[in-house]
Parts: sequence; C-alpha cells; structure tokens
Amino acid sequence: MSSFIVAARIREMLRKWLFPLFFTFLVLVSCSDEPYAEYELMMDTQCSITVYETSDRQYIEPVFASLRAFEEKVDRFREGSDIWRINECAGLCPVEVDSEVFDLISMAKDFSLATGGAFNPLLGAISDLWGFDRIEHESLPDEGEIAKLLEATIIDNLVLDEEKMTVFLADSRCRLDLGAIAKGYASQKAADLLSSYGVDRAIVNLGGNVYTVGEKERGRAWTVGIQNPNAETGGYFTTVESSDSAVVTSGAYQRNFSFEGKTYHHILDPATGWSAESDITSVTVISPDGAQADAFSTACFVLGSEEALELCASYGLGCLVLTSEGEVLRLGC
Ligand code: ADP
Ligand code: MG
Repeated sequence: MSSFIVAARIREMLRKWLFPLFFTFLVLVSCSDEPYAEYELMMDTQCSITVYETSDRQYIEPVFASLRAFEEKVDRFREGSDIWRINECAGLCPVEVDSEVFDLISMAKDFSLATGGAFNPLLGAISDLWGFDRIEHESLPDEGEIAKLLEATIIDNLVLDEEKMTVFLADSRCRLDLGAIAKGYASQKAADLLSSYGVDRAIVNLGGNVYTVGEKERGRAWTVGIQNPNAETGGYFTTVESSDSAVVTSGAYQRNFSFEGKTYHHILDPATGWSAESDITSVTVISPDGAQADAFSTACFVLGSEEALELCASYGLGCLVLTSEGEVLRLGC
C-alpha cells in the first residue's frame, strides 16, 4: 500500500472518528452537577450518553445495547439487515420487517410528503454513486446516470403494507437510505428507554443528534451549543434551549470532498441528485420527535432559509438557521 493511501486512510479515520470525539458536534454547556458520560462508536459516528446521578450510570450500557441492536436492523450495508433485504428485493418483492423498522420507514415516507420531497429516503443509489465516504475521487458521477437513478426516487415507489408489515421498493433502481433520519429516531429511542428506567436528567448525543431528557434543573431547560461550522476547534457560535426534545443540526461541512476546486457534500437535492445548494450553512431543528428533527433538518438544508422557517413554523418546531451570509435566524428557540 502506498504511503499516500496510508496517509489518506489515517486522515479519513481522524476525520470520521477522532475529530467528532474531540470537537463534539454540539457542545453541551454549563451543567452544575457532576456529569458522567460513556462513549461508543456506532451508526458511523461518535455517540455518547451522559447522566447526572451516580445511580443512573448502570442504565447506560443497556441503552447502548439496544442502540446496537437497532443499528443491526437499519444499517443498509450490513448483509441481512432489514434495510439490506429491502434493497436486495427492489423491484422484485415486498419484504417483511421488524415493527420498529416499519415504524421508522413509515415516518420517513410521511416526512418526505410533509417536506414536499426535500427529505427523500430513496436517494441511496445516488449517494452510493457519489461515495462521500470514499477517500479518493478521481471523477464526478456521470450526469446521465444520476438522472436515470433520479427517476426512481419518486416516493410512491416506497410501498408499505401496514397489515403485513412489508416494505416494497417498486423500482429496481431504488435504494432505501435512512441516513438522514435513523440517528434522530435512535436518539429518542435511547431517551425514552432512559426515562422508562426512571432517569430524570440525561443527554443522548448520536453524532450531533442530541436528545435532552428532562430539564437541567427544575424550571430550567438544558442549553445546547450549536457548532460553528467554520471553527476548526469545534467551538459553538450560539446556543438553544431544550427540555425533552431533540436538537439536530445539518450542515454541508460534515461529509464532503473537493474536486477541481469545487466542494461536494453529502446532503443531496432530491430534485437534481447533486449536492444541495441553498443559502444555508447550517440548520438546527428542535422537536420532541427525534426522527422529525433529523429528517426536517436535512429537508430544511435543501429548502433554504425562507422555506425552512415556513416549514418549521407550520409544524410548530423550533429552528435556527446560520445563513451563508453569516446571519442567524431563529424561530421559537
Ligand atoms: P448526518 O447523517 O451526517 O448527520 P443528515 O441527517 O443531514 O446528516 O443526513 C445526511 C445523509 O442522509 C446522507 O449521508 C445521505 O445518506 C442521506 N441523504 C442525503 N440527502 C438526503 C435528502 N435530501 N433526503 C434524505 N436523505 C438524504
Ligand atoms: Mg437529518
């Protein structure tokens, strides 16, 4: 293996694992009690669970175990997972899935409709073509190929049968990708589990998909720092308040590569199949529903600031936008 490739691999590992570890995507600030956190790499990112009572520490591992089991079902690259099976059977036959997975996929379809298609869980084949996780990029994907795959991403191709609990991709070119919703869903799942164990105060952070359990103290919400996309150090540029809610940020700075002087990032515009180009640098959505916060933050990025704020207003969600001009726009947060 050439030293160039080794160096590139090390850089990629740093980018994927260590940087998120040290420069936590969202920084939680100012808690007066002694926090205790455990960390784990899962869902392709750095995850943490923080509790504030010594007696609550025992619940962290069972929650991580449940997240691991969830990941096994929704990882589309894991042979035999529910999503892998759905994709293998695209254009062929419906696939029976676990009830939780069915629930998540139904939400994904609903959110796609609610966002006018800006969130679209059928972009998997196009994301694969781009290969944002690849280290080297010798060319861009073929425009004609993107256009062909785009035809298959119409949301009607995601066919759900609630009674049989089956999922069918009606076009063989379709690939289901829950990358923009699964972590938000999982963050709430973890928060709900912690609550069911009687944990009153905790923070779940799945690679920047934060779920705050309870309040920091009676009558005072948690304060969540929002990462400054331009700060190498991972500092935050502002904060939002949150109690029993998800705080999810999407930005073009997370996974990207440069080719011939232009940067291409992992949030795709479902209308074109190319990286979304809007006036947004980063957008944060706050919702009690973790999956909604995640799906909507991705959709908001695609839509641009004006439509993003309109969308969140119509669903009563908090929204914070950092525009490419450096302006900070706030709605209900
Ligand atoms: P991250 O998962 O990095 O926090 P997002 O929640 O914004 O960021 O999700 C981006 C991921 O979702 C991409 O890596 C890709 O797998 C998928 N994706 C990209 N564009 C869209 C889109 N418009 N709608 C739904 N999923 C998308
Ligand atoms: Mg998302």
